[in-house]
Amino acid sequence: MPGFELIGDEERAALNALFDEGGVLFAHGFDGMRKHFHVREFEGAVAERLKCSHALAVTSGTAATKIALKSLGVGLGDEVITQAFNFIATIEAILETGATPVIANVNDTLNMDPDELSTLITDRTKAIIPVHMLGVPAEMNEIMAIARAHTIPVLEDVCEALGAEYNGQPLGGLGDVAAISFDFGKVITCGEGGMVLTNNPAIDKFAREYHDHGHENNPSLPRGRDTKSIHGFNYRITEMQAVVGKTQLSRLNTILTMNLERYEAFAEVFGNATPTRRIPTAGKPINDAFIMLIAEQSIRERVIKTLNDAGFGTKNLPDAMEWHCAAYWDHALESKQVEHAAATRDLLMTAVAVPIWLRKTPVEYAALGEMVRHAVHE
Ligand SMILES: *Cc1c(COP(=O)(O)O)cnc(C)c1O
Repeated sequence: MPGFELIGDEERAALNALFDEGGVLFAHGFDGMRKHFHVREFEGAVAERLKCSHALAVTSGTAATKIALKSLGVGLGDEVITQAFNFIATIEAILETGATPVIANVNDTLNMDPDELSTLITDRTKAIIPVHMLGVPAEMNEIMAIARAHTIPVLEDVCEALGAEYNGQPLGGLGDVAAISFDFGKVITCGEGGMVLTNNPAIDKFAREYHDHGHENNPSLPRGRDTKSIHGFNYRITEMQAVVGKTQLSRLNTILTMNLERYEAFAEVFGNATPTRRIPTAGKPINDAFIMLIAEQSIRERVIKTLNDAGFGTKNLPDAMEWHCAAYWDHALESKQVEHAAATRDLLMTAVAVPIWLRKTPVEYAALGEMVRHAVHE
């Protein structure tokens, strides 16, 4: 899956070039000392690739989610609906704004269940966050229809699905705003980093000012005399992250192609030996995990052992369940939300994810498909 498997000479060369051309590491100003504004170029390249009119680089996906919520006006007393199969970051971002997280269970897509979403909406619901988990798009047609009917904005969490599509459109531009992540485990990486994506200029304007202490970045004024109308915080990234990020972005299509070759090699041999996670028909996933749903515990344990013995592991399901399921988050959620998420926990307990590693070959994935199929039928 991740870009860290392909990091190397090109990223190193990009960093050397940054120092050779003047070594300015700050995103703003110092015009006479530099040849590039790399953060701005990285934003432009991501916006173009994901077909969004605006992209704002920030320190992490978690920060991007918080900033996106702030830009939607979410705050104290509001409710934000998100899903039970998730990463804790989403909950943290909601709590940071002062709002209350409300948990929807997932369906057999392992993403937000639209039927349940409609039952959770109240007068206080201020935003909905579908999370495209493990590379598969959520059922956005259904989710957007419900959100639009209630005029509630949608924030897509694309942190785990950069490059996936829905209705032929890249994820990130389907809702009102989106968050992506470039942490070290993600599809592409610059160590730490994220972006806020939107097609709404007002959201971008707020997010841009908020992430930079309220700076309006007037081109006609020196930074020290810049104007401001809101106070914000510092969520800026450096030019170093941006040059690595730009290089990684140039590898995205290669990563997606390599994922698909490996995924298909596994799937072809494995066939339908077990039920699998349902992929929404309008969705084009990034194929970085093949997810089986195995209700029978003894079979499941054999499959997990096979994956571990073969050196592939099981990527989050079930490895890191406690960081990815709201049923384990009594440190952050109201107890009724934790209890409600038990249905998702029970479903996720049956899931086993075969991670797609770029450093393993399609031939190795075909062999793994054979081994896992035997483990199922043994
Ligand atoms: C990684 C991740 C985040 C947070 O991104 P960071 O850059 O690590 O802060 C948020 N949501 C999901 C679904 C993630 O996988």
